Amino acid sequence: MTVPADRPLLLVDVDGVLALFNLDGGEPAGMWHMIEGFAYYLTSGGPSLLHEAAEHFELVWCTGWEDRANDHLPRLAGTPGPLPVIKFARNPGRANAHWKLDEIAAYAGDRPVAWIDDALDANCDAWAAERTARGVPTLLVRTDPSRGFLPAHLEELVAFAGGLVVAD
Ligand SMILES: [Mg+2]
Repeated sequence: MTVPADRPLLLVDVDGVLALFNLDGGEPAGMWHMIEGFAYYLTSGGPSLLHEAAEHFELVWCTGWEDRANDHLPRLAGTPGPLPVIKFARNPGRANAHWKLDEIAAYAGDRPVAWIDDALDANCDAWAAERTARGVPTLLVRTDPSRGFLPAHLEELVAFAGGLVVAD
């Protein structure tokens, strides 16, 4: 028989993954919501995909939304939750990702990690490559902020998690 290794983490960004922007009129199904005075377009497909991902991963919010993800997204969009939240020392509120790396590294340690985000940069690639070189499975999944989390991303995630299953 086979037994799963420790369930990998899935770090989940919100803006550009579940809350879309730069919409071009061809966006996936979803709805506009007013959240704390701002309008957000939340996909309806992304939350379903997250529920499927939760069968393979331990989900963690990894977003400038921090606790606000749990405050709003399970109720408004039907995401899994409440989920653990990575807290960031600084949140510049702009579309770069390396500001998350220190806290992610501290949170994840040497656990296998997949990270889905619309704003991964060369620093993230270097972080993932360094972990991979040490034998720590690491997957970066990039989304288009006008499309968000799509079925092809879930397939990639499930294949990654499946590759961690070890023979007993
Ligand atoms: Mg984002």
